[in-house]
Amino acid sequence: MERRTFVRYIGTLGTVALLMPDLLACSNSKKKIVTNKLGAPLERGHLLRGNIDFASGYPVEQIQVPVLIVGGGISGLASGYHLKKNGFSDFLLFELGEQTGGNSGFGANNYSKYPLGAHYLSLANPGNEPLISFLKELKLIEKEENGLQFYNEDFLCHAPDERLLFKGVFHEGLVPEYGISEEAHAEINRFFKEMRELKSAKSKNGIDLFNIPVSQAEITEEVAALDTMTFKEYLAEKKYESEELLWFLDYCCRDDFGAGYDKVSAWAGIHYFAGRKATPGNTDPTTVLTWSEGNGYLANKLEEPVQQQVRKNMLVYSVEEQEDQVLIEAIDLHAKKKIRVSAGKCIVSAPSYVAKQILKSPSWPKSYFEGIKHNPWLIGIVVLDQIPEGNGTPLAWDNVKFGTKGLGYVSDRHQEFSPVRDKHVISVYLALDKADEQTERQRLFQMTEEEMCRLVISELTSMHPDIEQHVESISFQRWGHGMVTPYPGALAKYQEYQQLKKTAKRIHLAHTDYSSYSVFEEGFDLGRLAATAILNYEA
Ligand SMILES: Cc1cc2nc3c(=O)[nH]c(=O)nc-3n(C[C@H](O)[C@H](O)[C@H](O)COP(=O)(O)OP(=O)(O)OC[C@H]3O[C@@H](n4cnc5c(N)ncnc54)[C@H](O)[C@@H]3O)c2cc1C
Repeated sequence: MERRTFVRYIGTLGTVALLMPDLLACSNSKKKIVTNKLGAPLERGHLLRGNIDFASGYPVEQIQVPVLIVGGGISGLASGYHLKKNGFSDFLLFELGEQTGGNSGFGANNYSKYPLGAHYLSLANPGNEPLISFLKELKLIEKEENGLQFYNEDFLCHAPDERLLFKGVFHEGLVPEYGISEEAHAEINRFFKEMRELKSAKSKNGIDLFNIPVSQAEITEEVAALDTMTFKEYLAEKKYESEELLWFLDYCCRDDFGAGYDKVSAWAGIHYFAGRKATPGNTDPTTVLTWSEGNGYLANKLEEPVQQQVRKNMLVYSVEEQEDQVLIEAIDLHAKKKIRVSAGKCIVSAPSYVAKQILKSPSWPKSYFEGIKHNPWLIGIVVLDQIPEGNGTPLAWDNVKFGTKGLGYVSDRHQEFSPVRDKHVISVYLALDKADEQTERQRLFQMTEEEMCRLVISELTSMHPDIEQHVESISFQRWGHGMVTPYPGALAKYQEYQQLKKTAKRIHLAHTDYSSYSVFEEGFDLGRLAATAILNYEA
């Protein structure tokens, strides 16, 4: 195992201190900053790009199993969870990483756990019964009364949840409203009014036009038209011009999709606001559930019941659909052996760019996978010897600066009850979307730790000018392909997926890439639907 991998996966609090991470420091920095790169799955994924001859001499193990799941992110785990919940245990799940979770994985240092990607779950929409029942099982929803969900307050994001550095002062909330013109205020109000109306808009069949998961919405012609233009073009058409509102909407797109409002579709931009309609009984509908380890908490809960079925460190490199079976080939990277699986059915929950490479199935032509795009991300997990304060609202869970292209940072220890902290741990999120996704991906892979360090420090310094002297260490998580980016045309891709699904016999695809909207709820839904299709067949 690579030493860096070891640093990442040692996992337990308190043990990491025994390790000596890279003592590379930002050379211009006033003090030494310890840095290290995380991200073994990224390097492992790249094994698929070259040849896999390194395993040519490995012994071969043959396995027969009714169902194999490829990929243990939220979608794959959700498939396993639902199969098991319905009494079906005759399956295996192969995950490439040393831990499950994928984009919802997590790490830990001496002071805190931290998310490697996904850090929160929005409150469930009222019609999303499977998710509500899962959250009840986890006691995250404590009760339901009169159609309202009462959430466990320990896990609702504590106040202050968000603050925005605007006009030199931190203000609560992320909408820039302080001291703005009356016209700008009126526009912000007009925008949110329009979104409220779209929230309740229904098709002739009485189905929501915008809903999360997307499978619970109806894509009418009117909705499909929003997939043909960018969100920026839509806003211009509607005469939204205020600098404050436009910055806020662009920020929301970069934060949720990894690309700005000039790149994502009007459908995606609207869906972000109109698709959410939670009805909590004890909090604001826009509050989120969060943990130090982010959605790694939920990934672990999904994994618990299927631990017996999960095999980690498995690089699946071929999935071939045949008339009477699916043949899957994998390399067990730890045991150093090849695994040949003969399965009745296979759920492929690896990302689309992996599926395109490993899948040989008449139901899923290679051309289908073209055009599904992802922007790269860089996350810097920073240990500070002092709380990042500032004028105005104190440190919040999410901390953002108005007017920049940055996404700010999240305080990883926010949900802890103890106010006494020796060190602070924050995660700085950077969506790399200046150039096209290929160019940005190359830029990310070529970046030295020194360059990553400067990027993260400059993002922080723009909010806290003297912060550098308080930075002790930075760990970098690189996502070459972050979540799927819903460019114009992405909704049409989802419709194509729905069509292809109907003809698929033995291979089901379940990954958030296919719903064109990457959030926990989508992964949970796609995984559940794939499991249901298999359970129906078995019945
Ligand atoms: C930076 C970032 C921040 C995010 N923040 C949030 C958030 O706060 N809230 C939210 O709801 N969503 C967030 N998301 C979206 C997130 O992608 C989804 O919530 C969800 O985790 C996606 O799960 P998935 O299973 O569909 O995909 P993935 O997470 O991509 O899972 C795919 C799995 O397949 C495995 N795999 C890949 N290749 C192979 C192979 N050849 N063999 C075997 N296994 C393989 C991978 O290792 C991985 O575990 C964020 C995403 C990113 C990138």
